[in-house]
Amino acid sequence: LIQVFLPLNTLGFVFRETRDALLNTEVLFALLGREPEIVDAPDAQPLPAGDTTLRFDDVRFGYDRQRQILKGLTLEIPHGQTFAVVGSSGSGKSTLARLLMRMYDPDGGEVSIGGRPLTSLTQQSLRQAIGVVPQDPVLFNDTIAYNIGYGRPEADHAAIVAAARAAQADEFISLLPDGYETRVGERGARLSGGEKQRIAIARAFLKNPPIVVLDEATSALDTKAERAIQGALDEVARDRTSLIIAHRLSTVVDADQIIVMDRGEIVERGRHEELLERRGLYAQLWELQRQQQQTESLERRIAQHP
Ligand code: ADP
Ligand code: MG
Repeated sequence: LIQVFLPLNTLGFVFRETRDALLNTEVLFALLGREPEIVDAPDAQPLPAGDTTLRFDDVRFGYDRQRQILKGLTLEIPHGQTFAVVGSSGSGKSTLARLLMRMYDPDGGEVSIGGRPLTSLTQQSLRQAIGVVPQDPVLFNDTIAYNIGYGRPEADHAAIVAAARAAQADEFISLLPDGYETRVGERGARLSGGEKQRIAIARAFLKNPPIVVLDEATSALDTKAERAIQGALDEVARDRTSLIIAHRLSTVVDADQIIVMDRGEIVERGRHEELLERRGLYAQLWELQRQQQQTESLERRIAQHP
């Protein structure tokens, strides 16, 4: 693939040239530094429009032979529904997202979209169909407009601004010295984590994919900023088949179904109220976060009125 040690601005240049290859930034960077390269099957077909039901069927997977991460996971997200995945750090949530984007192939079982195994699809069509907002979005050393429009070269300025508005990024962009023409610096160094995430959300809006994956998309935001863009995230997931990985449970209350993972296995699934009533792991996580939030707000009040 690409040399891992190329300076990032060179990468930006390379990809400006190969934009048409439709490589997705997030996927690309996640791929960097990984060994097994996935190639299309000789008879691979593009993903047809229509049904985007996502299915994991008895999926077994490990990053190396020594340790199995997913031990026979089965999950179906019906077309157009939003499923949330929660669980402690290291429980395998991002691994699910990576398998869905086919950054890895499972060791056993199958991942499919609309009944078509990922291994039968062209990777290009797969990447076109999925919009990703990752935990730590990577930006190109180029302008804000380029970074939002990336992946959809035909988008004009009005479309870029509309996407930024939807992602609640328009306001901070307008305040920058050169607005949408402001250069973001290497890896977006001139922007805060929250600003980068909003750029990534704007990119997803513009791409308008049938499938959306949010991997802790608001992790760089504080509770207040997160609340402010929650509407934008709900909007980007609406009417699409969505997999939302959330570290803050308040963001998943409205999901069609919540999947609770623990050590690579689904231990609970259901809607928010059902899971609270069950008094299992989800209820524990919820209680823990409630306490943390109370502590946080108490600390804030003490800081404001010492
Ligand atoms: P989560 O997103 O729930 O925090 P992950 O899916 O990222 O968890 O990771 C699940 C497990 O897989 C963890 O134990 C993690 O250390 C391991 N893991 C994740 N990525 C890699 C990798 N690239 N190589 C080896 N192990 C990994
Ligand atoms: Mg993760």
